Amino acid sequence: MKNILVTGCAGFIGSNFIPYFLDKYPEYNLINLDLLTYAGDLKNLKEVEDHPRYKFIKGDICNRELVEFIFSEYDIQGVIHFAAESHVDNSIKNPGIFVQTNVNGTFTLIDVAYKKWMRSPFVHNEKYKASRFHHISTDEVYGTLGDTGLFSEETPYAPNSPYSASKASSDMIVRSYRHTYGMNTVITNCSNNYGPKQHNEKLIPTIIKKALANEPIPIYGDGKNIRDWLYVLDHCKGIDLVYHTGKAGEVYNIGGRNERDNLYIVNKICEILDVKVPAKKSYKDLITFVEDRAGHDRRYAIDATKIETELGWRADENFESGIVKTVEWYLLKFQAHTK
Ligand code: NAD
Repeated sequence: MKNILVTGCAGFIGSNFIPYFLDKYPEYNLINLDLLTYAGDLKNLKEVEDHPRYKFIKGDICNRELVEFIFSEYDIQGVIHFAAESHVDNSIKNPGIFVQTNVNGTFTLIDVAYKKWMRSPFVHNEKYKASRFHHISTDEVYGTLGDTGLFSEETPYAPNSPYSASKASSDMIVRSYRHTYGMNTVITNCSNNYGPKQHNEKLIPTIIKKALANEPIPIYGDGKNIRDWLYVLDHCKGIDLVYHTGKAGEVYNIGGRNERDNLYIVNKICEILDVKVPAKKSYKDLITFVEDRAGHDRRYAIDATKIETELGWRADENFESGIVKTVEWYLLKFQAHTK
């Protein structure tokens, strides 16, 4: 059996990752360290709460004493690090907590891992020779694109928001532990995820929630901002592949080649809702343009050639198939609330 520390898994992506990973790897125990900020919800993990190979610990990744205790108590042999402050709008209002969690938290985790797994730079303790630190990051570290071009692993970092700057900084810390100490690290930079269990504050749940409540559906600016949307389970499969077969020290971009602008997304969701829960008028009538987000990046798009060709990853869903599943999941969630 191998004990893996997973952080931040009461949030969106981690809570999709845990059931998938537990099911696929009967030889792993997963220890989930999560502070349960406003973004974490144990309801997301209901299906695994009594699982014999799953353990939840409420706590802060910045708490060094706690992290050291977990490493020794559970003899941690691998880390998959999801925990972060993740909402760009919040980072504009309150950047300090983003630096604290995303930068200091990542530093604390990797530094404790280094001291547990290695004796000195480039010298592993025998038992932890294969121990890997997988840092989950975002394509937002690369900044924004014009009408053409894609982010590759070679694209220079140019983060524009306090969120992306804090994630870029955490990537640099992980990189430095590879180059200075020879740690076995991998970093994945993924595009925008969507799917079940995402916090209501994010774009797609907001659209569905507002539509069902017959309230204005807010869309920033002219609605032409483009993101490269990836169904969350495809991201989880990419993480699995990189954690197990990625080359130590490497960075892999993950993205589904599904560029869509916000207007397309809101219209698509309204069309699905018009069929599934018809109202007197189309939900499209609720679309309302609001003042743009400060410093709003125009376009992100990922070149996923490296993970596709070197590791054989492919997204199973395209946006049109994934969004139907997603809307169905939120319909159950929001309609259960109103009953
Ligand atoms: P989320 O906001 O839904 O969840 C974050 C989780 O981290 C929550 O459960 C929260 O309680 C926990 N957390 C926050 N601060 C903590 C702390 N100090 N100690 C312990 N736990 C803490 O985020 P998400 O969307 O699931 O994103 C997970 C990771 O993936 C993040 O690192 C994010 O940067 C990255 N990412 C997200 C996306 C996306 O589209 N959601 C895309 C690319 C990369």
